[in-house]
Formats: sequence, C-alpha cells, structure tokens
Amino acid sequence: MARKIGSRYTANQILGRGSAGTVWLGEGPEGPVAVKLLREDLASDQELVGRFVQERTALLGLEHPNIVSVRDLVVDGNDLALVMDLVRGTDLRTRLERERRLAPEAAVAIVADVADGLAAAHAAGVVHRDVKPENVLLDMQGPLGPGGSHPALLTDFGVAKLIDSPKRTRATKIIGTPDYLAPEIVEGLPPRAAVDIYALATVLYELLAGFTPFGGGHPGAVLRRHVTETVVPLPGIPDELWQLIVQCLAKAPASRLRASELGARLREQLPMLAGMPPLEVDEPEAESTEEGPQEAPAPAASGEPVRRRGAVSLVPGAKPDSNRDTHTSMRVPGPDELAGGARGTARAPRTAGAPRPGSARHRAAARRRKITLGVAGVVLAAAIGVGAWAATSGDDEPPQDTHSTSGP
Ligand code: ADP
Repeated sequence: MARKIGSRYTANQILGRGSAGTVWLGEGPEGPVAVKLLREDLASDQELVGRFVQERTALLGLEHPNIVSVRDLVVDGNDLALVMDLVRGTDLRTRLERERRLAPEAAVAIVADVADGLAAAHAAGVVHRDVKPENVLLDMQGPLGPGGSHPALLTDFGVAKLIDSPKRTRATKIIGTPDYLAPEIVEGLPPRAAVDIYALATVLYELLAGFTPFGGGHPGAVLRRHVTETVVPLPGIPDELWQLIVQCLAKAPASRLRASELGARLREQLPMLAGMPPLEVDEPEAESTEEGPQEAPAPAASGEPVRRRGAVSLVPGAKPDSNRDTHTSMRVPGPDELAGGARGTARAPRTAGAPRPGSARHRAAARRRKITLGVAGVVLAAAIGVGAWAATSGDDEPPQDTHSTSGP
C-alpha cells in the first residue's frame, strides 16, 4: 500500500527490511527512489532526529558512482526517512550465498569498485564503519565489468553515525559486525578510515574463500581473533593478491593501504586473474567447546542453543532481520575473554555434511533467529560506543566530525 513520505515522495512497495527500518521502492519528483524509513523507536528519538538534521549536508554531499547516494532526508511527523538512489539488483551477500565463492577476477572487480567508493568517502571525511557484503549492492542494470560483474555500490553511509550515540550504544555496546571489525576497534580506539580498509579486505577474503578469516563461533571469540590471530593463506591464491589482503588486514591501521591505492592495486591485478576459476578452499572445521566455557552459545528464544557467526546490531534492541542475520546485539568482551586462549581458527570436527557455523549454508539455516549475547565486560567501554565517526586515518585528513557542521 502506497504511503506519502513528506510532501515530495511516495513509498509504493517494500523492497526489503533491515535492522534500522524498511526500505521502500518510492517515487520522487525526479523519478524512482529507494526510501529507507527508519524504525519508529528511532524516529521518535529526539537526539537522533537532531543529528539527522545536522548530518544532512555531509550525507547528501557524498556523490560517487560506487556509492549509493542519499538524495534527501525527510523528517515528517513520526516519519524519519533517507531517500536514496534506487539500485536495481541484488546485494553481495545474496550473490555470495548463491555462488558460495566468487572467481578471483569477479571478486577483485567488486572490491575495487567498493574501494573507489570508499576513497571518495574518506576524502570527504566520512568513515563507513559497517562495510560488509550486505551493504554492497550490485547494479544489474549497469554494464558488465571484469569477470562478468555488475558495478558494485556501497550503501548505508551515514546510518551507523546517525544511530550511534553515547545513549544508544552505551558503555558496553559496539557498532559494527564482528567478522569485519578491525582490531583497533576491538581495542577501543575510535573508528578511522583504516577500519573500512580492514573490513573490505575481510570481504575480499570472504568472496574468495566462502568464509571470513576470523569468523565463526561466539562474537567474543571473533573479536579476540581479530586482535590476536594472523590470517591463514588461501590455497591457490596468486601471491600478489594475497599480499594485498595481508597488508590490508594488518593489525596496525597505519600499515594498511589507503582506499584509493587499494582500488588501483586491485585493478592492476585484474588482467592476470582473468578466467581463473573460484579457489578450491575447504571450509574450516566447525566450532566446538574447544575455545572455553565463555564461548558457550547463548540460548535462542526457543531454548535451543544456537551457534553462529556473531554480529553487533547497529541499533541496540533491533528486531530480527527478516532477510539478514548479521545484526545481533552483543556486549563487548571483557579483558579475560580477549586475553584468553588465542588459538588458531581450526575448529574441532563437525558432523559430516553439517554446515560450518557462520558459513553461507549455516547462515541460511540460521536466518530468522536472533540472539542477544551477553558477555560481561568493560574493557572496550565507551571509546567504542561514543567513537567519533569522521575519517582521520591520515595526517592529511580532517579531524573527527569536522564535516558534520551543516544545518537543515
Ligand atoms: P539495514 O541497513 O537497515 O539493515 P538494508 O540497507 O540492508 O537495511 O536494506 C534492506 C533491504 O533493502 C536489502 O535487501 C537491500 O537489498 C534493499 N535496499 C537497500 N537499499 C537499497 C537501494 N538503494 N536500492 C534498492 N534496494 C535497496
């Protein structure tokens, strides 16, 4: 059923639901648009509405072929909506679930697109903070590029910042999705541009391998691995490509490439990846109780234990996603948990044929279930929750929040 959004837009049909709200296919004065209508409890939060208005210019100013542009922000009665460019296609998570692993050329072409989008955002002083396959849209109406890939666009810019506030994220909440969280965030530093590079390198690894380098099991364990473990090489991966991944997964943010450089270096490698089939990678073994009692799975609402890849909701208290399961509310791990038992990512054997927790197959099976994992702890505390958002990874970048000075 169609509904009016402000005086200029009509929302006609639901395209999908996310943790922050519902995305509608809409119509505006300049044609079709996507309208993200924020959840009611977010829309009624005065602080959030204030920031929404404040951020207007910064959000509206991001224009790049690999960024889903925000065209308008609408505050209308109880409605709070982001009007975005409509992307006709699918998201990268859906493609990955379908194909399990992408051929290196296609994976690299997609990630190079996202790196280009990030370069533009970082240059404008904006850090995305939640780079993951769910937030990459593939424009099926765009031209086919290397490896038969459609143009990739990064979406959800600004959503993390809009929703992030000391009140909402509280001392023990963090923003992001554990599989993609850079170690410096786990250690409590404010998010700078290099966190997006780490997340994007994680996405590249995942597209090639079918699983993320440090994912699987309890979110606390995932966070700890980011800090303590090194990435295991993928069999058959060309050395130059592997070196790029390793460099961008460096624990030290300053050792990672800048987005523009990453995009350029990836594109340089495209010719030699042409025609290469997806890598033959065995899924890592399933998680077991090997990693200690603190990683015991939290019971689901049904009382049945659930093991799956963890995620942190952008919005504390988010309702379960109907079609995404990467948003889960959790607390940050305590010092003991972070320090304890750093082991390799190899897991104990699982039942033959059973999907690896966190794998695409497991995700599909685990969809519609949401867990709230409580791991008591204070170590990461407010630094993460209140972390400012502007990009300041380099000396030549603006200080935090300098971009968010615009008025309505
Ligand atoms: P959230 O970030 O709140 O979890 P998402 O951004 O993932 O929500 O959006 C939910 C759904 O809407 C996804 O399935 C996505 O494919 C679709 N969607 C989001 N933005 C657009 C867009 N600009 N154009 C087309 N579809 C979109």
